[in-house]
Amino acid sequence: MLTKKIIIANWKMNLSLAETVGLTKKFKEKFAGFNQGEVVICPANLALSQAAKILKGSQLKLGAQNVFWEDKGMYTGEISADMLVEAGCQYVIIGHSERRKYLFENYEMIHKKVRAVLETAKLTPIVCIGETIEEKESDRRDFVLVEQLQQALSGIDVFGNQQIIVAYEPVWAIGTGTAIEPSEAEYAHKIIRLALNDMFGMRIISQNFKIIYGGSINSKNVKKFAALENMDGLLVGGVGLKVDDFSKVVKSIINLPAGRPVKN
Ligand code: PEP
Repeated sequence: MLTKKIIIANWKMNLSLAETVGLTKKFKEKFAGFNQGEVVICPANLALSQAAKILKGSQLKLGAQNVFWEDKGMYTGEISADMLVEAGCQYVIIGHSERRKYLFENYEMIHKKVRAVLETAKLTPIVCIGETIEEKESDRRDFVLVEQLQQALSGIDVFGNQQIIVAYEPVWAIGTGTAIEPSEAEYAHKIIRLALNDMFGMRIISQNFKIIYGGSINSKNVKKFAALENMDGLLVGGVGLKVDDFSKVVKSIINLPAGRPVKN
């Protein structure tokens, strides 16, 4: 059995409701009948329910960009995992570096969000980790990645078919137009896989986890990433807003190696 590659488009706070509706329709049309990989769009909360309606009958999946850890109550402005499920989501991004930077999301908050999402058993968390430029330049990347994984996932039980996606996103590569060297991504993914193996064991890692890359992927540089052994997919920002370029990215990733073998 081979895992399908996954490509996730994070639309961030870029589109109005009308624009989201328009782009979702274009995605649906572009990917009609596509089932060689998993494609996920993550619009703003405002547009989730409408996007879910449009995506009915298509292979595309819906994700949210954030979630809160409590299930209901006096938490002004927040949204729970159950609410996201109700809106039609199957995925949710947790701990994106923009939230860590602008909203001061910390390790504890990210851990609580992962737990809350796994409790619903209906959502796949996309847990973002990655070093800053200062951490990279002081040679602390490996330590930072392991630390972030442990803080986010320690003590978490993974049951049945529950999927968890770890997105390696070097903060200094996001939105800059320059992705890191594919060999660097491959190295970082190996570190992540080894750390996860230590935490959960190899069987769980090969069955329940995917490790993906994010940071300035475009239709040109993607080809070099497609052949990496330890890469189960991509999280994209900018290129995810242009359906034709995004489709080229998806095709580049899907057409090369047909995925990573899953150990039973
Ligand atoms: C991101 O924000 O997660 C991201 C990968 O953005 P971009 O592709 O624009 O670098």
